[in-house]
Amino acid sequence: EDFAQLPLPPKALENLAQMGYTSMTPIQQQSLPVILQGRDIIAQAQTGSGKTAAFGIGLLEKINPRFFGVQGLVLCPTRELATQVATELRKLARYLDNIKIVSICGGQPIGPQIGSLEHGAHIVIGTPGRLRDHLRKQTLNLESLHTLILDEADRMLDMGFEEDIRFIIGATPDKRQTLLFSATYPDSIVSISAEYQFDPLRVSV
Ligand code: AMP
Repeated sequence: EDFAQLPLPPKALENLAQMGYTSMTPIQQQSLPVILQGRDIIAQAQTGSGKTAAFGIGLLEKINPRFFGVQGLVLCPTRELATQVATELRKLARYLDNIKIVSICGGQPIGPQIGSLEHGAHIVIGTPGRLRDHLRKQTLNLESLHTLILDEADRMLDMGFEEDIRFIIGATPDKRQTLLFSATYPDSIVSISAEYQFDPLRVSV
């Protein structure tokens, strides 16, 4: 259950140790080896389980810092969660130079968001409605995306974001890794998974 078992670069392991992450949480043990192999997962995990690091460590391994296009996208139900995810990802990314992580949420002025997207972000974290606005305005381009994460997917559907989520996924390449995290599995989540994931491993903790 040690991170050192994973195929991660020494600098990543050192950074995890500095963060005080010595052993993997159960969700990390079950999902990280598979995420690092590039496979899709559908995971049942609550807040506090360490799910952010589970997808974050996997996502960061695949980011090419020299390419300034959006490579990873994390969809969240609320600005509060998006902010928490951004904070955690920035800590996890400290071993990498110049990784730009941008948070794009509703209820915030759009001008500065357009500015930060123009400057080139590697990873975008945000809420579905505002992200859809940016796609419509063509201020966000997801053609280079390789990793899509749906965090608290059931909550996003409860909040009425299903259509926005479908629109956003439609703007991403078919060839991508899709990681879906949800506390519950209603039929709507099962069908989203069936439509947008390829042979996902089901993980529950
Ligand atoms: P999350 O479920 O992603 O909201 O994470 C809950 C908390 O657990 C966060 O404060 C993380 O910083 C922390 N955490 C995540 N993974 C580990 C780990 N392997 N060891 C210690 N703390 C962790």
